[in-house]
Order: sequence, then structure tokens, then C-alpha cells
Amino acid sequence: MNSGLVGTLTPGLIARAANEYATPLYLYDADFVVKRCKQVLGMPNAYGLHASYAMKANSSRALLQTIASTGFGIDASSLNEVRRARLAGIDAARITLTTQEVPVGAERAELEALMDQGLLYNACSLLQLELILEVATRGGRGLSLRVNPGKGSGESVTRNTGDKYSSFGVHMDQLPAAVKLAAARGVKLRQVHVHIGSGGDPAAWQENIVRILEITEQYFPDADTVNLGGGFKEARMPDETPADVLALGAYAKGRFEDFAARTGRKLKMAVEPGTFLVANAGYLLTTVVDKKSSGPDGFEFLLLDGGMETNTRPLLYGSRHPFYVVSQDGKLLSSEFDADVSALKSRVLCGRCCESGDSQTLDETGAIVPRPMADPEIGDFVVIGGAGAYCASMSLSNYNSNLAPAEVLVSEGGTLTLIRSRQCLEQVVANELGL
Ligand SMILES: *Cc1c(COP(=O)(O)O)cnc(C)c1O
Repeated sequence: MNSGLVGTLTPGLIARAANEYATPLYLYDADFVVKRCKQVLGMPNAYGLHASYAMKANSSRALLQTIASTGFGIDASSLNEVRRARLAGIDAARITLTTQEVPVGAERAELEALMDQGLLYNACSLLQLELILEVATRGGRGLSLRVNPGKGSGESVTRNTGDKYSSFGVHMDQLPAAVKLAAARGVKLRQVHVHIGSGGDPAAWQENIVRILEITEQYFPDADTVNLGGGFKEARMPDETPADVLALGAYAKGRFEDFAARTGRKLKMAVEPGTFLVANAGYLLTTVVDKKSSGPDGFEFLLLDGGMETNTRPLLYGSRHPFYVVSQDGKLLSSEFDADVSALKSRVLCGRCCESGDSQTLDETGAIVPRPMADPEIGDFVVIGGAGAYCASMSLSNYNSNLAPAEVLVSEGGTLTLIRSRQCLEQVVANELGL
């Protein structure tokens, strides 16, 4: 049977982790993450490559440290994410802040200090730019500016961040004003940034390079770097194809060389993937706690001890994740990567939240789509793959007062290391004040 499991993971190791740390549990393969980092760092480029990890995909400290150790910088989406990266021991000079937050209030002083230590601020609106110019003027440091090019691409409408329906970045309509403002204050916009969405068509990612280089030529005379964002498509399911980052790099290299031939400017390329580095390194381990059937023309339900509060993506986007059934003693009973999967009965996976959308088997309309898998015993494990990105970090952990699961890192030789303990009820209620 083709297990489809990545890196050093085996069904035996999955059962061992589940038995040792209890479920629900996130399990990450360190080796796979490092391989993916090296793949991105090896992208062809014309005049240099700077790669950062979009840490919102998974902000767990040990993962940040693993990724940073390969040479990656960090793309943070909030000041709190910057703080978490600093707690992981990552220098401010290796962090870029790209946020919808506006730099005012008590947090502004901290942001200024971070910028003094070399944090690159990526202004994402005219107001942000206006507010940060004064800090940027000091010491002659430059800024990055996020452009919304008016055309984006994502796996679903809500993950397209590059068109008029999306609020991210400075839109083309306001770009001339932003550029003029920075120039008037003597601030160099040294990086042009664009991130058009998550999991979109690689062809759209390529087209975007041409567009942003035209925009750079027209509006950004001081830029030495063009940041193409993240969004490299990952294949979670057997019928999906991941982005070919070597081909994307080769294409980008050509366009950066064309740009240099045209303008004499040798631009450095920057990228900031999240999903691509961690999605398929992660597995969500759950235990089958109950089974139900709604009759011959109904569904076979498996009830798991982890659902929408541990992986919200099916409910939010209709995302598909691959499912594995593993016995308590570590035998693989089914994997959707196996060719014979069609012989298996189709089942519906439910969590334990009081919410009818708490299912891992939904399409983008929210309809239930049963999926082929073995018939487990109560106490066996259902493993949800592709769960390294936007699961632990984007979960609804405490709905129904369920506790955020523990996280465990698998390293070479199958060593299991606890990298985050399971939350406890005391932590959930810690800030509550009774009457
Ligand atoms: C989310 C995000 C990314 C990463 O997107 P992925 O699809 O996870 O690769 C990169 N850059 C910015 C600015 C982001 O907001």
C-alpha cells in the first residue's frame, strides 16, 4: 500500500506518538520542512534571492527555529508575530512586517525600536506609509511597499489577495500618491512587495512577475529588491500538483534579466512562502470515539476527538486533506494515496463540536462529501494530512471549551520531541472574572 506519508513518518510512529502524547495531536516532520526550505533556497535567480517564511502558516517556536536555521528570514503578519519570532531567537534584521495593523498607540514605540534594530517595515496602505515615514527617515533606512496589482490568484475567492475585492496592499489607484509621498520625505522605497494569494495557479504567479516588474520600472526608481510574496501551490491530495519552484525560479530569473537589460538595474528577488514549507510536513492525529449511520441512503459517520477546532480549513474553504486510518497498534488500514482506495466504503468524518459544519469532509459549498476509508475500531486513529499550515495557527481551539492540542516534532531516526504542550482548562479560563 502506498502510504503517502512524508519524510520519516510511518504508521508505527504515528501510533506511538498518539499513544504517548494523546490525541488530538499535531505531528510535524522536521526533515520534510528542511528539505522544502532547501528547495526554495535553491530556486534559480538572476541577482540574488532572499527567502522568508510567512510564519502565520505555523508559528510554533521550534518550527520557526528549524526554518530560520536553514537561512530563511521571517515574514510576520502582526507585531505579535514579530514578538514570537524574537522569542524564537530570530534577529529583528531578519524579519519583515507586513500587516493590516496601523502603527499607532503604545505599540508604536516598540515597532520603532525594532526598526532601529533592522526590521523591514512593509507599508501596506497610504495611512501606514504616512505614519511610518518619520521613523523611516531616521538613519536613512528604506521601506518596503506592498502593491495590490489589481489581479490576483488563490485556491478560493477568499484567498485571492491581489485584486479589487481584496484590501491588501496599496492599490494602483493610490500608488502614485504613495510614491510621491515617500519621495517628498526623502524615504527610499527599496523593496517592492506583492503577494497575490494562496494556493493559486502557478501560471498566474508567473504573469504576476511581469506585471510587478512593469510597476517597479514605472514607479520605484530606488528599489533594489522585488518581493514576489508566497502562495506557492502545494499538493495535499494525490490528484493535485504542487508548484514547480525550480521552474518558477527559472522563469523569474529570465524576467529579472530582461528587466536588467532594459533598465540597467539588477534587482534581487525575494519570496516568502508559508504553506509550501510546512503544509505537508504536518499531520493531525485524532482518535475515533464513536460511529453512527444515518441509514442505507444516508451516511456512515466516524466521530473523532478533533474536528473544526483543530482543522478549520474544510469548513472555511472546502479544502480537501488526505485521510489515513491507522490501527492502535500502528498498522495502516487505509490511505487515500493507495490505488485501491475505490474499493473502500465512503465515510464522513465529524468532530465533537455542537456545530453541524464540524466535518473534515466538506466541499466549498459546505455540503458533505463522503470519502473512501477503512472501517476503524473505536480507539483507532484517523490521521489528517496536509495539516502543517493554517491548522494549529488558524484553529478555533477553544470552541466547546476544547483544548488546543499538543504539537510534536519528528526528527531524524523517528525521535519525538514535544514542542508545545496541550493547553489545560486553567489556561482557557485564566482571564475570566466572575461576578
Ligand atoms: C500569507 C502570506 C504569505 C504566505 O502565503 P502561503 O500561501 O502560505 O505561501 C506570504 N506573504 C504574505 C504577505 C502573506 O500574507
